[in-house]
Amino acid sequence: MKVEELHAKVGYRLSGRAQRYTEVRRSIVERLSRSGRPLTVPEILSSAKSVPLSSAYRNLTVLLEAGVVRRVAGTDDQGRFELAEDIAGHHHHLVCEGCGTVDDVPSSTRLESVMDEAARLAAEEQGYDVWSHRFDLIGLCRQCQG
Ligand SMILES: [Zn+2]
Ligand SMILES: [Zn+2]
Repeated sequence: MKVEELHAKVGYRLSGRAQRYTEVRRSIVERLSRSGRPLTVPEILSSAKSVPLSSAYRNLTVLLEAGVVRRVAGTDDQGRFELAEDIAGHHHHLVCEGCGTVDDVPSSTRLESVMDEAARLAAEEQGYDVWSHRFDLIGLCRQCQG
């Protein structure tokens, strides 16, 4: 997605909640969109040093409530954030149990059809109506293996 398209989408979503798309919010969204993995608040701030921590949390909360950003579960209690899937696109995560890093894994048509079949089976057994999935692979990243 082009960056103008991204900003238009986010701006529209914020205006639906009577929220302005401020400079700080734009820089958070751009940082997340460029990163290729979910980021902690200190990581988000590393590219926007002029933004105070309290302001970062406040703005992140607004973006979370507007459905622009979502919180990603890792293996530690550090909060990590990424753009919502309907903005960034569907993908999966690799989660490192050593350092806690979470990486994005792009999905493929083949993997998605396997996941859909698995979801259909599980849903059938539980009498559940399923329309989406989250798929995290847990292990050790290259650095933590070494
Ligand atoms: Zn690691
Ligand atoms: Zn998937």
